[in-house]
Amino acid sequence: MSNPELKFIGKIVSSKKDSSNMPLQGANAQVVIFDEYTDALDGLDKYSHVWIVSWLHKADRDRLKVVPKRVSADSPPRGVFSLRSPIRPNPLGLTASKLIKREGNTLHLDHVDFLDGTPVVDVKPYSVGWDSIFSAWNNSTYETYIKMPIADVFADMLRQAANFHGDACVGVAIGTRAANLAMRHFKCDMQTKSLTVSASVRGCTADAIQGLLQAGNKRFIRVDPYEGKIVFTKDGAKLTLVITNDKFHSVVEVMDAPDDKVFTSIEED
Ligand SMILES: [Zn+2]
Repeated sequence: MSNPELKFIGKIVSSKKDSSNMPLQGANAQVVIFDEYTDALDGLDKYSHVWIVSWLHKADRDRLKVVPKRVSADSPPRGVFSLRSPIRPNPLGLTASKLIKREGNTLHLDHVDFLDGTPVVDVKPYSVGWDSIFSAWNNSTYETYIKMPIADVFADMLRQAANFHGDACVGVAIGTRAANLAMRHFKCDMQTKSLTVSASVRGCTADAIQGLLQAGNKRFIRVDPYEGKIVFTKDGAKLTLVITNDKFHSVVEVMDAPDDKVFTSIEED
């Protein structure tokens, strides 16, 4: 075996200096690549997203089981290989970010959950074909979400919907709210096979619902013309939502509104 010596190739520059003010979804930040590695950046501009591998220099390396950070403290501990926790034998951090722009050796990125000054070990292009597995599933998101503050759940779901659509627009935010309401109503994971959707909505909202339910054609049907109606069905039970005619001007406005401001009619049967 060759000597497993790591060379730091850059560092994180972020307004987030300690973990107590790091949002769950990370923050916009920069990776500054050291001058001697400039040539290695050649060609990276052709990619919209990149993987950043970092060395989490402050992390505890001695524990093999920890309580997941995003759920409540009364959850049972889990093995670190089943978590994204920084605590692990080799504290490598891995995050996929949008390459907003490159200025020389500085990469401007979104959703970076590494603190200011964190050493960077590697940068790799994010490959759509290899790295995005739309049908992948996680340990119950519903069970995790019910233990989280609702604002964190919204942010988490909005990110998934935006990843599918391309960005977070007002239509995506409305679709996110619809999927969230369905999840709370049926008390189930959005990937549940028996949960199906028929929606006469605009493209952005349709993308959000499809992305969040990870629903292919058999579970998701988009109906024309536009009526603003979303019908969720599960095991014979139905939830019908009608999107309000009110105009929302921003994603934040949609995410902050109560359910009955986003949907004029909420019918259950
Ligand atoms: Zn859109």
